[in-house]
Amino acid sequence: RSWCKSLPKSELHAHLSGCISKEKIREILRRPENEKLRAKATSLFSPRTSLNLKECFELFPIIHEVINSPAVLREVVFSVLDDFAADNVIYVELRTTPRSSDAFTPQLYISTVLEAVDSYHKEHPNGLLCRVLVSISRHLPVENAREIMKVTEAIMKEIAGTTRADLIVGLELSGNPHRGSWDDFKPIFEDSRRRLHLPISLHFGEVLDDKEANAMLDFRPSRLGHAVVLSDAVATRMITEERNIGVEVCISSNLMTESVTSLQEHPVVTKLLGSRHPFSLCTDDPGILDTTLSEEYARLSECVALSRERVSSIALKGLQLSFCRDENVLESLYRTFFRKLQQA
Ligand code: 5GP
Repeated sequence: RSWCKSLPKSELHAHLSGCISKEKIREILRRPENEKLRAKATSLFSPRTSLNLKECFELFPIIHEVINSPAVLREVVFSVLDDFAADNVIYVELRTTPRSSDAFTPQLYISTVLEAVDSYHKEHPNGLLCRVLVSISRHLPVENAREIMKVTEAIMKEIAGTTRADLIVGLELSGNPHRGSWDDFKPIFEDSRRRLHLPISLHFGEVLDDKEANAMLDFRPSRLGHAVVLSDAVATRMITEERNIGVEVCISSNLMTESVTSLQEHPVVTKLLGSRHPFSLCTDDPGILDTTLSEEYARLSECVALSRERVSSIALKGLQLSFCRDENVLESLYRTFFRKLQQA
């Protein structure tokens, strides 16, 4: 366990709102301006509350209410990055859904996240490196997705040539898998892929739906999130025909949301390890789940008795599957990885 902690790791599937520790949320709720919210929310953020998928999706809107200004958004980005750094994560791709609310427009939301990440890097010049994926939520209207893509394109033009220019490295589809249809979002992602040239990750196989799963594979995303509830036919297609599409594996999340009943039955154990299909271990929502990336590595390596060499190669795969395309940045990350691996 302590070795998994000292292992240098990369996090490729982490939703910003789900990464905020319960301790941090309780701290924000204690502030005088949050008195009303405190009454309804505090009990939900007690340590070790177990939640199913439906309950998780009820929790996110409350977290969104807690993040009620650009200053708080900035503060939680710092807090989340500090938590990953303390767990020896050297590279993290934070994904988040730009929202419209009293406090934010999608434009202000993305700009604030980028500013926070940029400032974090400047304050921690030798610290972890963060990149951002812009999320589209399938349970929100398609028009909302269209607006977010437009805003993302405008921001990318605006920040070209600044220290923030390389921070957005991808797009992703997430949100309540029981709602929305991939058919409706696909044209928007196709258009954005053409216009923005960004790699795309799709939440995939969280509920059993062969038609949608096959349509998502036909789209050839760069990575797939979860891939946990799949028919044998889809799993076989993924492993035999789509070997370039890395899977973001989120063990604790899948167990808590009851997508699988035990780790022994999880596709990472039953299929990915044996087939050597590329995958990366990720946390999904470590704040809500009370987990860390080290914990995810420890859970898997204890379940199937992996050698340190194999665990290190899984950690390396996390870097190889990253959406960061900047050769200099990648080279420096690989150097950091191998240096820290020797010290682990
Ligand atoms: P945010 O985008 O606000 O930073 O993070 C919270 C959002 O991430 C949720 O509203 C939801 O759309 C998405 N999300 C977080 N965890 C999961 C998950 O396990 N599955 C899916 N499909 N979406 C998730």
